[in-house]
Amino acid sequence: MPGNLTLDALREAVDAGEIDTVVVAAIDMQGRLMGKRFHAAHFVDGGWRETHCCNYLLTVDMEMYTVPGYATASWEKGYGDYIVKPDMETLRRVPWLEGTALVLCDLLDHHTHEEVPQSPRAILKRQVARAREMGFEPKMATELEFYVFENSYEALRDQGIAGLRPISAYNEDYHIFQTTKEEPLMRALRNGLYGAGIIVENTKGEADSGQAEINVRYTDALTMGDAHVIMKNATKEIAHKVGKSVTFMAKYATDKAGSSSHVHQSLWTPEGVPAFHDPDDPHGMSAMMKHYLAGQLAHARELTLFLAPYVNSYKRFCVGLFAPTKAVWSRDNRTAGFRICGENTKAVRVECRIGGSDLNPYLACAALLAAGLDGIERKMELEPELRGDMYHAEGVREIPKTLREAADLAAGSDWLRGAFGDDVVDHYVHAARWEVAESERAVTDWDLRRGLERA
Ligand code: ADP
Repeated sequence: MPGNLTLDALREAVDAGEIDTVVVAAIDMQGRLMGKRFHAAHFVDGGWRETHCCNYLLTVDMEMYTVPGYATASWEKGYGDYIVKPDMETLRRVPWLEGTALVLCDLLDHHTHEEVPQSPRAILKRQVARAREMGFEPKMATELEFYVFENSYEALRDQGIAGLRPISAYNEDYHIFQTTKEEPLMRALRNGLYGAGIIVENTKGEADSGQAEINVRYTDALTMGDAHVIMKNATKEIAHKVGKSVTFMAKYATDKAGSSSHVHQSLWTPEGVPAFHDPDDPHGMSAMMKHYLAGQLAHARELTLFLAPYVNSYKRFCVGLFAPTKAVWSRDNRTAGFRICGENTKAVRVECRIGGSDLNPYLACAALLAAGLDGIERKMELEPELRGDMYHAEGVREIPKTLREAADLAAGSDWLRGAFGDDVVDHYVHAARWEVAESERAVTDWDLRRGLERA
C-alpha cells in the first residue's frame, strides 16, 4: 500500500496514545493539501468514512478568492458541498508532526457520489486507468527543487517579503560542506518522509545559492502525485519548525536560477517488464517508447499549461540556466525539453524537463501520460533527435512563452479536450486566464523601479 498505516493499526496507535490527530486532506487546483484535522478517536470511530468541504475549493485562486465564471461552483449556485472521501490506502504516519497521521482524499459530487471530474486526483486516475486498459503500468518520479531561506515566513511577512536571505552564500550544486549546514532541515525531511512511507533516494544542493533538490523513488503515477504534494507540505512544515522558510515558486528572483520539477516516466507491463527497453535498439529504446515520446513532443505545446500553470512559471524558461526553452528530444542533454535518461539500460526513460516546481503533479503526470498514450495509440513516428546546445537551435518547437499562449493552446486542443474532457479543459483554462488578468492589473516593484522617477 502507498501509505503505511491500516485502519486497525491506527486504532491501536490511538488506543496506545501514540496518535491523537488525523489530517484529512484533499488536493486543490494548485496542488495544495486542503482539509481538516480530526480528533483521531472520532476518525477511527467513523469519521474515516467521509467528511465534507465547500465546493469552492476547486475554484479559488492562490488567495482563496471566489473567482467568478466557473461552471462547477459559484455564488449563483450557492457554493454547496463536495464529499471528501478518504482514500484509506494513503493513510500514513506523519513523523514530523507530534501524534499525527494523514490521509489523502478524493472529492465526490454530493448528489451523484461520482468523482468530481475537475479534481486533480480524479484527472490522473482516469489517465492511469486508460494506460492500464492499454496493458501498461505507468511509473513516474517528479523531482523537486526549491529554495531555502534563513528567514521564517513570519519574519518575511513582517518585512513586507523583503530581505530574503538564501541559506547559502554561493552556488551549492552537489556541495557536501554547504549542505552539511542545512542538515537540521534536510535530514529531518528525508527521515520524516521515509517514516511517512515515501522512499527518499537523496537530497542535494542545487545550482544557485540556497537551492536544494529532493529525489524520491519512482513509483506508480498516483502514488507519485500523492508523494509530491506531501513532500511539498512536509518541506514547508519542517522548515517552519526550524525557523526557516522555503519557496516552490518557479522563479523567485530575476537573477536567480528557476526551480524545476522534472518528470521521469516509463511504462511497464503488468508483469513488471520495462516496456520502454529494447536491447536490440542502438539506444535501447523500444518502439513503444518512441511512440510515447513522439506523442509528448506532438502535444508538448498544448499541455504546457499543466507543467507551467502561473504567469511566474514562464519566467523560468530562460537561456543558459538549465531550464529548457525548446520542446525537442535528446539523449542525456540538459538543454532539451525531453531528455532520454538510462540509455541502453532497463531504466531507459523519458525525463520531461519543462515543468517548474510550482506544477500540480497530478495534472502534469496526467497530461504527459495522455500525450504519450496518444502517441502509442496512433503509432506516431519519432522525429530525429537534436544534439548540441538546444538553446540556440533555430526553427525548432518552442515552449510557449507566456501563460496566455499556453492557455490558448490548451483551449484550442482537440486532443486535450478528447483526453481530459471539455469540462476539465475549460475549468483549467479559466483558471489560467484569471491568473493572466490578475497579473495584468498588478503594479509590480519592476514598474515602480523603472518608472517612479523617469517616466
Ligand atoms: P538525475 O541525475 O536527473 O537527478 P537520477 O538518476 O537521480 O537522475 O534519477 C532521477 C529520478 O528518476 C529518480 O527519482 C528515480 O527514482 C527515477 N527513475 C529511475 N528509474 C526510473 C524509471 N524506470 N522510470 C521512471 N523513473 C525512474
